[in-house]
Amino acid sequence: MNEPLRIMSDLILSPGRERSLRRGHPWLLSGAVAGAPESAEPGAWVRVLSSAGEVLGFGHYSPHSSIRVRLLAFGKEDPGEALLDERLAIAIARRRNHPLLGGSDALRLVNAESDGLPGLVVDRMGDVVVFKFLTAGMHVRAERIARKVEELTGAPHGYRSRDDHSARRESIPPDEGPLWGDPPGEVMIDERGRRYSVDFMHGQKTGFYLDQRDSRDLVEGLSAGRRTLDVFSYTGGFAVAAGRGGAASLVLVDSSESALARAGENLAANAVGCPAELRRGDAFEALRAASAAGEKFDLIILDPPPLARSRRSVQSAARAYKDMLLHGLRCASPSAFVLAFTCSHHVDPDLFQKIVFGAALDAGRGVNWLRTLGPPADHPFSIHHPEGRYLHGCLLEVEPGGESIP
Ligand code: SAH
Repeated sequence: MNEPLRIMSDLILSPGRERSLRRGHPWLLSGAVAGAPESAEPGAWVRVLSSAGEVLGFGHYSPHSSIRVRLLAFGKEDPGEALLDERLAIAIARRRNHPLLGGSDALRLVNAESDGLPGLVVDRMGDVVVFKFLTAGMHVRAERIARKVEELTGAPHGYRSRDDHSARRESIPPDEGPLWGDPPGEVMIDERGRRYSVDFMHGQKTGFYLDQRDSRDLVEGLSAGRRTLDVFSYTGGFAVAAGRGGAASLVLVDSSESALARAGENLAANAVGCPAELRRGDAFEALRAASAAGEKFDLIILDPPPLARSRRSVQSAARAYKDMLLHGLRCASPSAFVLAFTCSHHVDPDLFQKIVFGAALDAGRGVNWLRTLGPPADHPFSIHHPEGRYLHGCLLEVEPGGESIP
């Protein structure tokens, strides 16, 4: 892999297009660019200038993406490539001994824009550090980044996980494989006493949804004696938490056979003793069938994949979220707790609340919103980059009285 060219190119903005940069937003869209550097290679370190010639900042060039530059530095001074090492050290140090991040050997070490490192995601999973290089800029610096993270963490193994979506967007190869050490096929993590086996090579994302850690804690504290339904269970993140918290029974629903197989192993690894049923199939159909059959649950988790992948699909996604909630609420017993999530950043918190309330009305259930839920402190979003806010959730409590409200 090539180290990026140190020959810096200039990129000039169209008049009036520097506003978002002045507010510290790290993305420069292709439409804002008046003059592109002809010689700059994908991933090159570029200097961004206003139409009047003022130097505004420095960043990584992505000639094939509609996000043409990700800025890493603002202002006139070129911090150079050493900036990358500094940012990695800060991101990793920030999470060490953090009061909100204790008790887990699985953490996100670098969360892209919110750590000043657009295009880079680094997750520690026990002995293995899993990387996603999501932009041309991070792709060409992969080896250097891996070396630095190895040095900073002392972890025995490093692994590069592929990301086909960003590889297409950036025209970079969807590489995957070991970066150092000899990564085993899977790794066991310990998240506040919950033990999960993680397939970081073939699993979704980097193998495990670290962003739901705090909500899993919540579920563990809520589940005692409750019949629990974990919809979109993946490898049983929530189900294991509910089981450890003393759930009366567990039903897991997911369309992925391999995810459910691992969920079964995870329940066993945590010595979850209550009856557990794994239902493979479409979650929307499974919810409809459960509500039609009159099944009731006292704790329900609804954690779907991103249903709106673009702004255009928000309407249809809103209908799907509402359908999920409507049928979920129909399966809720009096006083049930329901946790529902969206991880589509196009669905904002206001819209999500409207969907929840609309579904409760249609289900004829009185519902209180007890808590707003979101990602833990290793997945922050920067005030300069609101697009990084993607995971919204709520803890609902269904009215104790009866099955319906007037
Ligand atoms: N709750 C999980 C993460 C859920 S990710 C955790 O905390 O670990 C979303 C899951 O939904 C994936 O496992 C995926 O296989 C599953 N999925 C996607 N579409 C589905 C559908 N239509 N029906 C059932 N499962 C689906």
